Amino acid sequence: MTDSEGQKSVALAKCIRYHSQTVRLSLQQVFKPFGGVSNLVKPGQKVLLKPNLLSAAHPSDAVTTHPLILKVATELIEEAGGKVYIGDSPGSDSQVKAHRVCGIDQVIAETGAEALIFTNHLNYEIKGTRKRTIQLAAELAEVDLVFNMAKLKTHSLTGMTAAVKNIYGCIFGMTKGRYHFENPMPLDFSRFLVDVCLAVKPTFSIIDAVVAMEGAGPRKGRPRQLGLLMASPNPFALDTVAAAVTGFHPAEVTTLQAARELQLLGSELSAIRIEGLSLDKARVKDFDKGPVSSGNIGRLAALLPIARIRDILIGRRPYPRVNSELCTGCGVCYEHCPAQIIDFANSIPDLDLSGCIRCYCCQEFCPYGAIELFRR
Ligand code: SF4
Ligand code: SF4
Repeated sequence: MTDSEGQKSVALAKCIRYHSQTVRLSLQQVFKPFGGVSNLVKPGQKVLLKPNLLSAAHPSDAVTTHPLILKVATELIEEAGGKVYIGDSPGSDSQVKAHRVCGIDQVIAETGAEALIFTNHLNYEIKGTRKRTIQLAAELAEVDLVFNMAKLKTHSLTGMTAAVKNIYGCIFGMTKGRYHFENPMPLDFSRFLVDVCLAVKPTFSIIDAVVAMEGAGPRKGRPRQLGLLMASPNPFALDTVAAAVTGFHPAEVTTLQAARELQLLGSELSAIRIEGLSLDKARVKDFDKGPVSSGNIGRLAALLPIARIRDILIGRRPYPRVNSELCTGCGVCYEHCPAQIIDFANSIPDLDLSGCIRCYCCQEFCPYGAIELFRR
């Protein structure tokens, strides 16, 4: 397969459980149409595996990329002569804590991989949805290739998080919150996400959908076994197929809307070649797309062809509120609210909704699922 054919192709494979041999066979299947790992990684190259480490969550919670996928991918890359680094900037929690709880330290202990701890920024110029300068983790400059190791989950802001949104973790620390604040509307923020993905240019993307997350993702949804691995050199094509597998209309996933505006290769399902398992066999008919994306005005508005009207109607999307029965007063939401509208005068947070940009960072990072969404 030529590079341009690869950009139009997505490989699907069954992977019914997190078992070493099963994962190895499935990963080999999704690498095969692209010439295998040895066609992607040359001996001596430094490869960053960039998992989804949203927070320090146990692998069984389905919040983060499963460590066994990372371990087997590391082994395959090492067999091809590459040197593996693993790193991501979590949304909450330190990278060191996330590496410990999410099983990354164990992968490192059992393979030749090393941790790549993000500590600094570097400016990248990008002309994607528009010309802009994006601050990415400076450590990206230390590796030759980025392998994007995503998790398939619902997402209250973007509809779905998979390959494209996973690259947002290449932005170091709290800068992520600043970019949320600067891009409060879902589509604007998604244009930014597309630009980050274009700036990082992952060599290859893999989605861990062995156990995905449905419902109120990306942090407190329900683990859902889909038994699938998906892969492509093109993260936009990969997400287009992941959306089709889980029953999302492309317009319900704002990162795909933004990719379609730019007419990026891979943003139209009809132009994508599926390798391995057929799309019909991979489709999940009853995937719960979550409270924002399912059966509400936001979903209908997302289907409108005119972006301006769409943005106005999507402006009616829900607000966050605190469930005082679940809230422990830990303060994580306070630390992560980019609009700084959360007050702690009492033992539970007080949200000044007049200044809320509805980025849902509070819901995403609340460790206790105590932030709910409601419509006013
Ligand atoms: S809402 Fe969640 S994050 Fe905020 S203080 Fe309560 S438990 Fe902590
Ligand atoms: S209260 Fe929550 S949704 Fe509103 S701006 Fe703060 S973090 Fe975002």
